[in-house]
Amino acid sequence: MLDIQSIRAEFPILSQKVNGKPLVYFDNAATSQKPKVVLEAIASYYEEINANIHRGVHKLSQLATDAYEASRGKIQRHINAAHSHEVLFTSGTTHGVNLVANGFASLLKPGDEVMVSALEHHSNIVPWQMLCERTGAQLTVIPMNEKGELVMEGFDRLLSEKTKIIAVNHISNALGTINPIEEIIAKAHRFGAAVLIDGAQSAAHMKPDVQALDCDFYVFSGHKICGPTGTGILYGKEAWLNKLPPYQGGGEMIKEVTFEKTTYADLPHKFEAGTPNIAGGIVLGTAIDYLNSIGFEAIAAYENELLEYGTRRLLEIEGVKIYGTSEHKTSVISFNVEGIHPFDIGTIVDKLGIAVRTGHHCAQPIMRFFDIPGTIRASFAFYNTKEEIDALVEAVKKAKTMLS
Ligand code: PMP
Repeated sequence: MLDIQSIRAEFPILSQKVNGKPLVYFDNAATSQKPKVVLEAIASYYEEINANIHRGVHKLSQLATDAYEASRGKIQRHINAAHSHEVLFTSGTTHGVNLVANGFASLLKPGDEVMVSALEHHSNIVPWQMLCERTGAQLTVIPMNEKGELVMEGFDRLLSEKTKIIAVNHISNALGTINPIEEIIAKAHRFGAAVLIDGAQSAAHMKPDVQALDCDFYVFSGHKICGPTGTGILYGKEAWLNKLPPYQGGGEMIKEVTFEKTTYADLPHKFEAGTPNIAGGIVLGTAIDYLNSIGFEAIAAYENELLEYGTRRLLEIEGVKIYGTSEHKTSVISFNVEGIHPFDIGTIVDKLGIAVRTGHHCAQPIMRFFDIPGTIRASFAFYNTKEEIDALVEAVKKAKTMLS
């Protein structure tokens, strides 16, 4: 059992009023709020050890380097990577996907295929389209059904020796569906295809075990898991990271530079050109410690309770339709009220202090599938409560009365 009131006390932002009403923050799939330990760790980094890393012999540089590398080790243990050099710091999921897609440009040729799914966020579609444009490879798309699930027969039909890499999300940000990534990875490997898992939405709800999953790449963002913005992780299997060319050139990523030829640094530095987000990388480790101190099982169990409660309460409102009705989903409720534009509902509930997201959630193909302009998305975190869901339900009812 989580002590929600003490947890909420750790998040200063949650106690404020918005538009004169207590803030109800239900936009957690976009970004999570930050606990005091994270805010304090950012300040103490800058107050105590701020220095550039990996290159100074002076004390502060050593302390900052040690803290940065300790955080990498912490994240390695958290995701169960075999080596710390398989854990690369990035600026977020988008950066991680682009890094891998860019690398694959050196490996693909016309006739090869790159597979994504109908449930992807734009950042796990567009980089692969750009890769296909550069190489002449073909993009294939795993279809989805009315429940917002991947159609695995469609996947089986598409998968072949031509498939070189498959990029799918672990959890859909627009619908909350948890995808059968274990099956996708196992089948892909029979055809020699690599698999990148977009863990942007899963990292907040579950602890990925990259060795058990046997995925080739796993990417996520720090800001969705109580960490700072501009942070993220790309896990890649050592063999793949050695095979891919560097993404950006610059300081840190070289062994030796001459005007005739430059040789590249070993992993992980080969992919970490320039001065990184040092404070962010260190504090991402603090955020992960914080979540582990609460426990991912307890987090998931409580969030499922919120999901069930929220689904039941919202469906009590006549005209509410929920998109994403798989039994395998996390605490995201994407819905519309019949005859009313989602944006109008979002604007009115905001006036009542409730933060939900409205629109296409960077997943336009999903909206096109359902033939809707967008949805209202309430996404719950472990610091939300059933009382807040009641407030949302009342706000939606009020909006419906006003707009009908
Ligand atoms: N993939 C998914 C499933 C997401 O939810 C998001 C963020 N909404 C991203 C990718 C992109 O993450 P970021 O903007 O942090 O790079």
